[in-house]
Amino acid sequence: MQEFCSAFRISTALSIIVQKYGGTSVGTTERIRNVANRLLATQREGHQVVAVVSAMAGVTDNLLKLASEVSNSPTDREMDVLLATGEQTTIALTAMAIDDLGGSAISLTGAQAGIETDGVHTKARISNISPTEVHRLLNEGHIVILAGFQGRTAEGRITTLGRGGSDLSAIAMAAAINADLCQIFTDVDGVYTCDPRVVPDAQKIDVISYDEMLEMASSGSKVMQSRAVEFAKKFGVRFEVRSSLNDNPGTLVTHETMSMESVVIRGVSLERDQAKVTIEDVPDKPANASKIFQAIASANINIDMIVQNVSWDGKADISFTLHKNDLAKAKEVLKPTLDGLGNEVSLSAMDGIAKVSAVGIGMRSHSGVAAQLFSALGEAGINIQMITTSEIKISVTIVEAEAEEAARVVHRAFDLHQPRG
Ligand code: ADP
Ligand code: ASP
Ligand code: MG
Repeated sequence: MQEFCSAFRISTALSIIVQKYGGTSVGTTERIRNVANRLLATQREGHQVVAVVSAMAGVTDNLLKLASEVSNSPTDREMDVLLATGEQTTIALTAMAIDDLGGSAISLTGAQAGIETDGVHTKARISNISPTEVHRLLNEGHIVILAGFQGRTAEGRITTLGRGGSDLSAIAMAAAINADLCQIFTDVDGVYTCDPRVVPDAQKIDVISYDEMLEMASSGSKVMQSRAVEFAKKFGVRFEVRSSLNDNPGTLVTHETMSMESVVIRGVSLERDQAKVTIEDVPDKPANASKIFQAIASANINIDMIVQNVSWDGKADISFTLHKNDLAKAKEVLKPTLDGLGNEVSLSAMDGIAKVSAVGIGMRSHSGVAAQLFSALGEAGINIQMITTSEIKISVTIVEAEAEEAARVVHRAFDLHQPRG
């Protein structure tokens, strides 16, 4: 706790603070005024303030729905032009609210703020940030309101950074302007041992390592976008996750310390909407797996768990999981590749599955964790379909209907409901 309190003691000299406010935190005009008040209060404490804001709650989903109503296959380019409007609405409203409260704010789109990305529309990666304009406006005394989730390519096309991408905008901008503090404000008090909407007795975590946060985020704990955590780890951006609705201390995400290893499981994640593809009777020859996964990669589809059985009779079965929305595309791009692998190769697929993961760096130095997890699920009558592990994570796939119960069972099996002193 001491570590947490002292972690962000900011010097009294002028410091730069980046505050990110997610969709729920700017979900109504009243909440936007609340954010404006918070930003002004921070500036009055003597800091330069950059706010990164998301689209108002539900807006991005609604834009996606509108696109699907006018086209079965909207181009990714136009999708990004559309999606970026959500954040653009919020920056203008937030700047207006600040001005109305007597402050001075300037809104910037991602492009105006110098956020340059590659050209992979809807999942673009930040390649460079030129923060000259942001610094100039801060030095003139403005609060800078930056549109999260968006950037531009070198050629000037609008791009977006993947769902939840405003987290990445905030972390990346904090790195680029060498901010003293990066705060991710959301609708929960911090990172919990599991999604508190699923496990009501989940506990708030005071300090978590980048690696644990990364594994939790990438296995379904959507409180942080995993790419944002990856970026923070790479560039050493310590940040905190906390509530925009109160002043409770949040969760500090930072480098690993020795004492962190004493906790075996830090948290449990749940990922819904998964699908599984199984390719049977793949000739057991070098490069066949590579051909399959090259085809998937060329379509920019992210896959998750991969399991290949021991080859039998010169044939192997390969299974992998992916988001259910990518299933149709995956089948389409795999067809020519599988046809080229021989007549006997067959593909089967199912959706309606979910993944539950237990994460903790303490796993490295404790044995029996997998056994404990499997027996807890077994005792609850929950069948495991696939298993994968990393040094600090154990994941299982199960039927989606049992997912929430599975998360609660695993959470309790590792005593995560007990408050930590
Ligand atoms: P924002 O709009 O602020 O970006 P998100 O909806 O992306 O907020 O993330 C906050 C939500 O993440 C919470 O409301 C909570 O339901 C969910 N969540 C999932 N896993 C966790 C976790 N381990 N700890 C806290 N919240 C979690
Ligand atoms: N508005 C985007 C989304 O809903 C980005 C974000 O909220 O971080 O995914
Ligand atoms: Mg989010």
